[in-house]
Amino acid sequence: MKRTGFLYDDRYRLHKTGPYHPEVPERLEAIYEGIRNGELLEKVSRITALPAELKWVHSVHTPEYAKRFEAACRARHQTLDSPDNQMCPETYEVALLAVGGILEAVRRVMAGELDNAFCAVRPPGHHAETSRAMGFCYFNNVAIAARYLQKQWGLHRVGIVDFDVHHGNGTQHIFDDEPEVYYYSIHQHPTFAYPGTGREFEYGRGAGYGFTKNSPVLPGLSDDDWMRLMERDLFPAFADFKPEFILVSAGFDGHRDDDMSDIKLSTECYSWIMRRLMAMAGEYASGRIVSVLEGGYCLKRLPELARNHVEILLNG
Ligand SMILES: [Zn+2]
Repeated sequence: MKRTGFLYDDRYRLHKTGPYHPEVPERLEAIYEGIRNGELLEKVSRITALPAELKWVHSVHTPEYAKRFEAACRARHQTLDSPDNQMCPETYEVALLAVGGILEAVRRVMAGELDNAFCAVRPPGHHAETSRAMGFCYFNNVAIAARYLQKQWGLHRVGIVDFDVHHGNGTQHIFDDEPEVYYYSIHQHPTFAYPGTGREFEYGRGAGYGFTKNSPVLPGLSDDDWMRLMERDLFPAFADFKPEFILVSAGFDGHRDDDMSDIKLSTECYSWIMRRLMAMAGEYASGRIVSVLEGGYCLKRLPELARNHVEILLNG
C-alpha cells in the first residue's frame, strides 16, 4: 500500500458563496463522508492546512491582485471580478489555506514522507488568471504548486493533467510560454462550455510551444470518447515529456449526474482515469502525484468519486 496524504481542513468550509451557488461547503462534507465511510481515513496520512507564504502566491499572481483580493474581503465585497466569484470576508484567508495545504502535501511527497496525496480544498483554482478571479477560482492552486516544484525543488519537467470538465484557462495561460511545465486538459468544448478557451490548436507560445495540449469533447459524449481522447493526446505526450512530478486538477463535474456539464462520464470512468495517471506517475515520476480538487458539484456522487479516487492512490 502507498503512503497517501489526504489534505482536508474544516476551515475550507468557511468560504461561503451565498444562496444559489453550486460551489458550496457541502461538497467537502460529501467528499469527507465518502472517504470516512469507505474506511480510508485510517489508511491515509492526514494533512491539515496552513497559510501559504505570500512569496509562493506571488510566484503566479501579481502582488496587486493578491492585495486587491484581500482588500475586497476586508471591505466585505460579495464578489471579485465576476458575478460567478461570490465570496465572504473569510474567502481570502481560506484561499491562502488551500494553497498552503497543497504546498505542504507536495513538500511531503518531495521529501519522501509520502508517495502521493489528494487535496480536498476550496476554493478551486484552475480558472484563476495571474491578476483576475474567474469561475469560482481566486488563487491558481495547481499553478502555484508547479512553481513551488520548480523553485523550491529544482524540477525541470512538471506535468499537469486537468480532467475537470471545464478548461483550466488560468493554468494554461500561466505556463503558455514555458517548456518546463506541460499542461494537458480534457474538457467539454465548444457548445455551452465555460470558459470558451482550450481549443485543439492551442499548443503554447514561444519556448512553450508544444507543451500545452487540449482535448475538446463535444457535449453529450461519454466514457468511450473521453478515454479514446486521453489515449490519443495525453499518454503519448507525457511519454515524450517524462514528467518528474504529476499534478492533477481533479474535477468531477463531467459525471453524468452532475448538472454543470453535458458530458456523461460514469463513476467507473473516473477510476480508469486515475489508474492510468497512477501508472504514468509510476513510470516517469517515481510515483509522485498530487491531486487537487477543482469542480464536481453532484453531492450524491461526490462520496463514491472521492472514495474511489483515494483508494486508487492508496493501491496504485
Ligand atoms: Zn469545472
